[in-house]
Amino acid sequence: MERQTTRRVGVPRVALIAHDGCKNELAEWATFNRGTLARCELVATGTTGGMVAKATGLSIDLLLSGPLGGDAQVGAMLVDARLDLIVFFWDPLTTQPHDVDVKALLRLAVLYNVPIACNRATADFLISSPLFL
Ligand code: PGA
Repeated sequence: MERQTTRRVGVPRVALIAHDGCKNELAEWATFNRGTLARCELVATGTTGGMVAKATGLSIDLLLSGPLGGDAQVGAMLVDARLDLIVFFWDPLTTQPHDVDVKALLRLAVLYNVPIACNRATADFLISSPLFL
């Protein structure tokens, strides 16, 4: 099956998501990597995106908040080949009301072979990979 992509050639599209207990860590990571992220198209779930945009000054397309369908929107984007990297700091210590959406997103990322970083160490490896930029 041929999948369509609408992203600009050569400009990676990155999705950012963090559960509440991990939002500060993602904002710190994004601030540290601001220069690289500035060369990407960024999308994020609502609350995460607002926080990262405020911390970094980067322009970010905001999706719905995760519990209201934002994770599902990211899943739909990756299925449509519209994402090159997902940074998803999910909280391993807190139950999420939208756990089924979280699981679906993780499953789809594996199914469609889209790189997904679920912790800071992995995000560091992926964003500094020569395969990324
Ligand atoms: P949020 O969603 O960025 O709107 O908080 C993240 C999530 O809980 O999946």
